[in-house]
Amino acid sequence: MVEDESIVALDKAGIEQQLHDSEARYRHLVRNLAVGVLVQGPQAEIRESNRTALDLLGLTEDELLGKTSFDSGWKVVRDDGSDFPGPSHPVPRAIATGQPVRHVVMGVFRPRTNDLVWLLVDAQPQLDALGQVVEVVCTFVDISDRRMAEAELLVREESLRASVLHTQAILDNVVDAVITIDGDGLVESFNKAATRMFGYTPDQAIGRNASMLMADPERAFPDSYLRHHQDTGEAHRTGSPRELQGRRKDGSLFPLDLAVSRAEGERSPTWIGLVRDISQQRQDEAQIHKLAFYDQLTGLPNRRLLIDRLEHVLTHAARVGEHGAVLFLDLDNFKQLNETLGHGMGDQLLVQVAQRLKDCVREADSVARLGGDEFLVLLEGLATQERDASAQAWDTSLKVLQALNKPYDLGTQRHSCTASIGVVLFKDRKNWVNDLLRMADVAMYQAKAAGGNTACFYDPAMQATAEARTQLEQDLRRGLAMREFELFYQVQVNLDRVPVGVEALVRWRHPVRGLLPPADFIALAEQTGMILELGQWVVDTACSQLALWANVPGKGDWTLAVNVSASQFAHASFVANVFRALDQTGAPAQRLKLELTESMLAVDIEDIIFKMLAIKSRGVSFGLDDFGTGYSSLSYLKRLPLAQLKIDRSFVRDILSDPNDAAIVRAILMLGHAMGLEVIAEGVETAAQHEFLARLGCDAFQGFLFGRPVPQAELVATLPPPTTCH
Ligand code: C2E
Ligand code: MG
Ligand code: MG
Repeated sequence: MVEDESIVALDKAGIEQQLHDSEARYRHLVRNLAVGVLVQGPQAEIRESNRTALDLLGLTEDELLGKTSFDSGWKVVRDDGSDFPGPSHPVPRAIATGQPVRHVVMGVFRPRTNDLVWLLVDAQPQLDALGQVVEVVCTFVDISDRRMAEAELLVREESLRASVLHTQAILDNVVDAVITIDGDGLVESFNKAATRMFGYTPDQAIGRNASMLMADPERAFPDSYLRHHQDTGEAHRTGSPRELQGRRKDGSLFPLDLAVSRAEGERSPTWIGLVRDISQQRQDEAQIHKLAFYDQLTGLPNRRLLIDRLEHVLTHAARVGEHGAVLFLDLDNFKQLNETLGHGMGDQLLVQVAQRLKDCVREADSVARLGGDEFLVLLEGLATQERDASAQAWDTSLKVLQALNKPYDLGTQRHSCTASIGVVLFKDRKNWVNDLLRMADVAMYQAKAAGGNTACFYDPAMQATAEARTQLEQDLRRGLAMREFELFYQVQVNLDRVPVGVEALVRWRHPVRGLLPPADFIALAEQTGMILELGQWVVDTACSQLALWANVPGKGDWTLAVNVSASQFAHASFVANVFRALDQTGAPAQRLKLELTESMLAVDIEDIIFKMLAIKSRGVSFGLDDFGTGYSSLSYLKRLPLAQLKIDRSFVRDILSDPNDAAIVRAILMLGHAMGLEVIAEGVETAAQHEFLARLGCDAFQGFLFGRPVPQAELVATLPPPTTCH
């Protein structure tokens, strides 16, 4: 290092004097200084040089002395590499100004080797008494190493900057959005992909909370994803517990995959979020799922998906005790159509068949295409009773056959097509899929063997029941049209065995099967809706009868009870129909009693009360039939405008032998009387039962003891005296 002060000190006149005295010491010192020293005259001619100066410049003393540095042909460059104009060279400047020139960095190409040495140069002019420059002491040190180090640093900085730019370029070109946020969730950086993905420019995003990029609930709970990462250490947050969703600037949502990692920033940690838009992935997955599980032509589930569903349904059915059914369907003569009209037409037909099948079933049921012209319908949630469930499955099968029977419009052609259906009912067996499909297939071939356009149960007994039911349904329809129904009447008596009324009980005089009781047809009439017509006929006929009795001695003050089905009562025109029957027949409304059952109270109690009140306003009364067998809520019971409770036959039957039944009957009597209702017992077959009931306070009685249901002509107004009975 140059110690300027020491050089300045050397310039002092006193020192020169001393130098003179100890020239040897001085020369030795100067020659061996690690600093280059040139002593130059007023013309810049070199008068003296030390060894370091010669070494640094790569010249001998002879080559140097007496010359100016310009004469010696050195090439000198400035710090920035440009040429150094002569006058601004430190020595001429010091000579021209008489001022010291300090710390000039110059590059000097050594004349001999032409290599560059960097020097830090000082020029110190020596002035005489008149202020004229007599000499300039020029000192310089080699700073090439430092320059090199600086240059290296520069290069390193350069490359660092380049690498930052490089990284930015990479970040801007990656498909993933890279978003960094600070500990408060505020966005620090936002790459181009983030802009593409979310629609915000970096300016719009930076400084705002990153939760604006999230859908709810993350949006409503900013930083929850950060907390998740902090709490669990998990970088990933897709899928579990549910998929994250991003929210674009326009408000639209998309599924995303988020990876969070933590980087230590200068002041606080920075969170780096790597966000991937997985909409396409999800679409691809959905497409793959569609290809794998759906039939391309009809869009229906394919065999694989159906089997999967069937397994679930079987397990469910076994658990809840409900039935389900499989309908295996094959089009009749489809091959022929395909061969004569071509596959294009065949495809059109299959698409229409698929649509009709879907229209036939409820939403909960499934329709699948197994391949070719084979379809499968899976019915769920059928009745718990096998008889009812098989009826439901059968009805659906017939509905399907009917729907498929209608002509198909195939562009230029109209085509007719039928199908064969194999039906299997299932309930409480699991893991039964293959057996089930096999059985349905067998049943389908039976249907084909029977000539097609038909359905067949796998179970022959079920088939017989189903066919009988279909037959009965046709008969019932015809029977209604042909007026094959009759009303029988069963007498009701008071405590003194005096007849006070009758109950009308319907009978069907079937042309082949003879007289049928209601148990054989009422349920089917209810299921098929025919109960409306039948029930209305009963009401009309009963009212006519009442009107006729009005003037018959002994029968004029009888009441006539008529049973009403739930669906009949629920029908919108029920009230009007009763009124019409009363009006048209002129029957005394006070004598008409409608019997409702407890089970129908479960539906819409307000509607029931409303209708009851409307009918009651005409004077008609109500009885509650089969009381004790259902689940009447006492609070409802209180609100119903009832006149009578009818103790069910089942309690009367064992009233003498079963203390429970006796207790129930006693309770019903107490309850009914407390509510101001008349209580009648039905199914009274013996005098002992009658006596027992009478003793408990029962008001009226009905049963074989007093008379079976008979045609009105056989009804008598007075009963024979009691016979003792056991
Ligand atoms: P229900 O209203 O409880 O009618 C009483 C049933 O008990 C009648 O059966 C009657 O014959 C029977 N019965 C009467 N006394 C005795 C007896 O001492 N012992 C025994 N074992 N049975 C007796 P039926 O006529 O077969 O009617 C059965 C059910 O059919 C009726 O039960 C009623 O719920 C329904 N029903 C009858 N006619 C009609 C109708 O016109 N419309 C509707 N919706 N249902 C009706
Ligand atoms: Mg009844
Ligand atoms: Mg009853």
